[in-house]
Amino acid sequence: MKRLPTHILAVAYHRRFVQLKSSLLGKFSPELISQPMVIRLPLEPTGREIYDEIWALAHGILKSDSKYLDSKNLWWNKSNWKQILEESTSKSQLKPFVLKYVDRGAFNCTKCNWVDMCSGCAIEPDSDRKIHRFLPLGNIAIEWHS
Ligand SMILES: [Zn+2]
Repeated sequence: MKRLPTHILAVAYHRRFVQLKSSLLGKFSPELISQPMVIRLPLEPTGREIYDEIWALAHGILKSDSKYLDSKNLWWNKSNWKQILEESTSKSQLKPFVLKYVDRGAFNCTKCNWVDMCSGCAIEPDSDRKIHRFLPLGNIAIEWHS
């Protein structure tokens, strides 16, 4: 019998939002920065495990005096993360970053229909719930807001 692997490799793309100069609507568009990272994750990770793994590799990008190097300042470590995520209309609260489900181009959501023009649904940093069928979702955008 074929055994499923216990871990998979996911690709995480660094991304930020820039205002399009050419757009009359003043729309923001995602832009890739730096090189993507490959991370090793359980076959069915929890959202929290994804945040922890990516943070372990990505925190070195921050300046050495960044307040986010203190893990209690990370929004996903706070007990009210769900509320912070729901109220994050201004994006600015999700510092230093929020993780999103994206396709291989890192611009479009893998959860929504393309007509919705979603640039990625946020991955919830839930430590209690495993994400089933994560393998086809193995492209992640690290959306920096710091
Ligand atoms: Zn979406």
